Amino acid sequence: MATAAQTVKRQRSCIACGAQADKVGLLRIVRSPEGAVAFDPSGRAPGRGAYVCSAECFAAACKKKKLDRALKATLGSDDYDRIAADIAAHADDARKM
Ligand SMILES: [Zn+2]
Repeated sequence: MATAAQTVKRQRSCIACGAQADKVGLLRIVRSPEGAVAFDPSGRAPGRGAYVCSAECFAAACKKKKLDRALKATLGSDDYDRIAADIAAHADDARKM
């Protein structure tokens, strides 16, 4: 399914390993204007975003506090757990499709 937004190629890099990919090839974590941090499967949620290329890189970015820095937010372990679970669920969905 191609949309107008996906035809615009914007390279982003993974905050953990630095791998570059199209925006749609990375997992986006977003801090909403209200300050809530969440996984953004659409890649279009408003707010400040950070990108990782895999669940492994998400875990690495968490461990090194890179996600906190990228989002200018302080994440608790419950935030990490919730986002990791959302990413895992998203990966499962992608495999089914
Ligand atoms: Zn990576």
